Amino acid sequence: MRTLVRGGTVVTAVGTFTGDVLSDGETIAAVGVSLDAGSDDQVIDAAGCFVLPGLIDNHTHLDMPFGGTVTADDWESGTRAAAAGGTTTLVDFALQTDGSLLRGLEAWHAKAEGKAHIDYGFHLAVSDASDAAIAEMETAVAEGVTSFKLFMAYKGALMVSDEEMLRVMERARDLGALTQVHAENGDAVDHFVREALAAGDSDPRFHAVTRPPAVEGEATRRAIELATWARAPLFVVHVTCREALEQIQLARDLGLPVYGETCVQYLTLTVDELARPGFEGAKYVCSPPLRPVEHQAPLWAALRNGGLQGCSTDQCSFNYEGEGGKQLGVGDFSKIPNGMPGIETRLPLLWHHGVRTGKLTPSELVAVTSTGPARLFGLAERKGTIAPGLDADLVVLDPEREVTITAATQEMAVDYTPYEGWVVRGAPRTVLSRGEVVYAEGEVRSRPGRGRFLARALHESARPAVAA
Ligand SMILES: [Zn+2]
Repeated sequence: MRTLVRGGTVVTAVGTFTGDVLSDGETIAAVGVSLDAGSDDQVIDAAGCFVLPGLIDNHTHLDMPFGGTVTADDWESGTRAAAAGGTTTLVDFALQTDGSLLRGLEAWHAKAEGKAHIDYGFHLAVSDASDAAIAEMETAVAEGVTSFKLFMAYKGALMVSDEEMLRVMERARDLGALTQVHAENGDAVDHFVREALAAGDSDPRFHAVTRPPAVEGEATRRAIELATWARAPLFVVHVTCREALEQIQLARDLGLPVYGETCVQYLTLTVDELARPGFEGAKYVCSPPLRPVEHQAPLWAALRNGGLQGCSTDQCSFNYEGEGGKQLGVGDFSKIPNGMPGIETRLPLLWHHGVRTGKLTPSELVAVTSTGPARLFGLAERKGTIAPGLDADLVVLDPEREVTITAATQEMAVDYTPYEGWVVRGAPRTVLSRGEVVYAEGEVRSRPGRGRFLARALHESARPAVAA
């Protein structure tokens, strides 16, 4: 079937124009002005709306175990919510399982299979860089898992040593894969947490006190040094503060292949949320933590000027009420499951707080939510912009559509939203995934299992140059 999205403001990372996008089957057939529709073609009137390439969320944790519990959202609810929010591709973190990377990959394929509403890929988190795990990296890359992740925090669980980091970075470099880091000094955090608890400081707000910006800045700098020694490209996930941004900018100014992202919550929420009365601050516990407001302006600026190349969600939802969620940390903040929901609300929040306020142009928004991630994570042959031949993943965004964010009506399965009661203007009206309408007029029209696994290409630093 052919679908003509007619008369919208078509947005790519390089600019905008008023025109039409025609999809035929799963891909974009033509982009132009005054394209003709056949009598059998579906026509979507986009007048007054913006037409964006489907968003890519390269940082999600669906159906993820954490400290004896599991996220509230699995691959069904998580990808349904993503589609409703204009995200048509995600890359989720598979965890090394029973010491094996490939077993982890198998487990994550099983979680997603039959449930995903949208297309997806995997990164692999390496928590034990054993010889066996290093040896498995080649197979993972051959199967289209072309990025790895290292945690410098979560001591005793996911954290790896500097030596392990070097081993993974060197192997990833040789395979043409990208190494990502969660940059916080886990030893220091562990020490500060022990001190706080010994002093009787157990409330949620001490989660942030024990992981200050300097802890993130130091780890970011160390990760860049290690990657430099390994001559490997590096992607720093969820950058939250000036201290980390400065290190990334310094490296980029030296011409090093260092990249980074931030997440919507760090642009829109502050550390003050953790001091809410009672235990409610636990809803806002994630790592690295939310920061004081003065860190937000530099993060927005970095998205604008190319200092950071992505803005993802770090979707990692744990229920507030009941067992197995945030309540695990009553009386001990270090036991609060880390993470927040956000897969559904990224686009409206970025539009309202970024585009409407002039902090980002529509093109800059597309650059950091679609085109940038597509390039960095080996998806650009099919995703990330609006052009003939690419997958027809499109978002028709109505800039005047007003939405009140509330847990009562969200698609996510988690029992709260960090943005309860927020009113945002500018939200998806229609979302297409590979030419199929998956969301329209406030309703998800997709079905579980239609999403496909994406084998991703190598990182761009490993691709051959085009001969003159
Ligand atoms: Zn994460």
